[in-house]
Amino acid sequence: MSADKPPLITKCLNCGKKVVVKYVRASRDYSQKNHWGYWTEAKENDGCYTCDQCLFRLYKNYRWEFCQLIPNKKKRVLLRQYIVNGDIKGKIEPAFSKLRIKTIKKE
Ligand SMILES: [Zn+2]
Repeated sequence: MSADKPPLITKCLNCGKKVVVKYVRASRDYSQKNHWGYWTEAKENDGCYTCDQCLFRLYKNYRWEFCQLIPNKKKRVLLRQYIVNGDIKGKIEPAFSKLRIKTIKKE
């Protein structure tokens, strides 16, 4: 039986928030769920991580970018499953939230 490795503490490529990457004993590797290089299959993203919220927002609010950034259709399906199952948790962000805040401040 191999020993568990400590979780990898890194930062989200997009927003800079802390990302904790769990070590998966079954696959003897770190979880690929937040590994941006895994989703994009681009070498320059290898070892770069994104937080749940950024993945969630990309899927929910930016479908066009989602398809462009993740060219592998099987991986898009897998990422969608993670979101549907709640393995990737996030909040829906309204597109005009910033605009509304500015309007309220003016009043
Ligand atoms: Zn993020």
